[in-house]
Amino acid sequence: MPLVDVAVIGAGAAGLFCAGAAGQRGLKVLLIDHAPKVAEKIRISGGGRSNFTNRECTPANYLSENPHFCRSALSQYTSADFIALMHKHGVPFHEKHKGQLFCDHSSQQLIDVLLAECALGGVERWQPCGVKAVRALTAEDQATAPRYDIETDRGPVQARHVVVATGGLSIPKIGATDFGHRLAQQFGHRIVPLKPALVPLTFDVSQWARWVPLAGVAVPVRIAVDAPAQGKGGGKHGGKAKTQHISFDEDLLFTHRGLSGPGVLQISSFWQPDTPLHIDLAPGTELASAMKQAKSGNRKQLGNAWKDTLPVHIPQRLAQAWLDATREQVPTLRDDQPVAEARDKDLEALGQAFNGWQITPHGTEGYAKAEVTAGGVDTNELSSRTMESKRSPGLYFIGEVVDVTGWLGGYNFQWAWSSGMACARAMANE
Ligand code: FAD
Repeated sequence: MPLVDVAVIGAGAAGLFCAGAAGQRGLKVLLIDHAPKVAEKIRISGGGRSNFTNRECTPANYLSENPHFCRSALSQYTSADFIALMHKHGVPFHEKHKGQLFCDHSSQQLIDVLLAECALGGVERWQPCGVKAVRALTAEDQATAPRYDIETDRGPVQARHVVVATGGLSIPKIGATDFGHRLAQQFGHRIVPLKPALVPLTFDVSQWARWVPLAGVAVPVRIAVDAPAQGKGGGKHGGKAKTQHISFDEDLLFTHRGLSGPGVLQISSFWQPDTPLHIDLAPGTELASAMKQAKSGNRKQLGNAWKDTLPVHIPQRLAQAWLDATREQVPTLRDDQPVAEARDKDLEALGQAFNGWQITPHGTEGYAKAEVTAGGVDTNELSSRTMESKRSPGLYFIGEVVDVTGWLGGYNFQWAWSSGMACARAMANE
């Protein structure tokens, strides 16, 4: 039966990176993945160009029941370290927005870096190869003996360290499974409830019908929700749940079924069912006063002209939709009246509707469209320095399978690199 120092289950971002780093530190590494193609999620990431890290990456960019857990790994291997690796491999990249770094050409360049690092470490890869079971052995020689028996489609393997890097549940059609979560439970770990995150939000068909004609319209907004404060128990203090007001200034995109775009994806990770979104469609401008100031002598028709007071250009169909919706509350608001003759009260209603749109989603597009899965293996039962299980020595959990979920913007890949490196170094130093 083959015997290895390390068996890594899952050849995605975290698994590939950890395997290469462990191999380069002298460990014999076997990397196993059931999918026919390597790193499919990396391939489709960042619109095909992988937003592989963020220049500014701190624990504040992550959600977890224990918001401090990610600190140690993120400081052991930073975004600057990964940027240096991309330079070492000569991969050209650029900053798109708010520190987000993307490959210039294609995500294949990132996959090639990870495969080259695995080759440098002499990593053996079995793919496609399913893992049927992992069992703990009673190690007679604690210093060197294998601790785990792994049953795979290619036969049994024994390993001293098992690294679970099977990711989250998002995009099941390219190989996502709950294998890692089930394995964690088998070894006595608690799973923080899972939910789709960085995901478009949907609305009741009847509620959304009036906005369907806006599908395809994108607009910069400030989008906010009130969410339970981070930390165990949803921030409960003396029986009262503490809430935090979360907001992002990003683009919003109307779709046929609801809302998407970076702002909505960000807020979706914090959104709780049955709670409203607060959307300011003209952030930084108090529209009611701007419109009132623009009244004097303005003979243009309100229907065409009210949006001239906005700081950015918006499509006429968006402007019209808000006029029509506001008119249901204030019937005196007329498209054809000159701006100068519009009643202040009507302009205030229109301004308030645009600055303070409140709407309650019905749900999300689910794992089929979610970029990540929030929740996962409870961090209280893992070492934050090494990612090792506190319940089963030699068993590690890295990447998205852990209850650490990054914001949109390269933070999820950085967590894969940082947690993978923390684990590799710990195994090599044992
Ligand atoms: P994965 O990369 O998902 O890898 C898990 C691996 O485990 C897979 O190869 C899978 O086949 C394998 N596996 C699963 N079950 C089993 C099993 N039973 N046996 C064997 N193998 C198994 N993040 C960013 O930071 N920047 C981006 O630009 C970005 N874009 C994204 C775009 C999309 C459309 C999606 C879906 C995600 C995006 N993400 C992005 C998130 C990022 O891809 C993930 O957070 C990251 O890949 C997680 O790494 P991982 O190694 O933990 O899991």
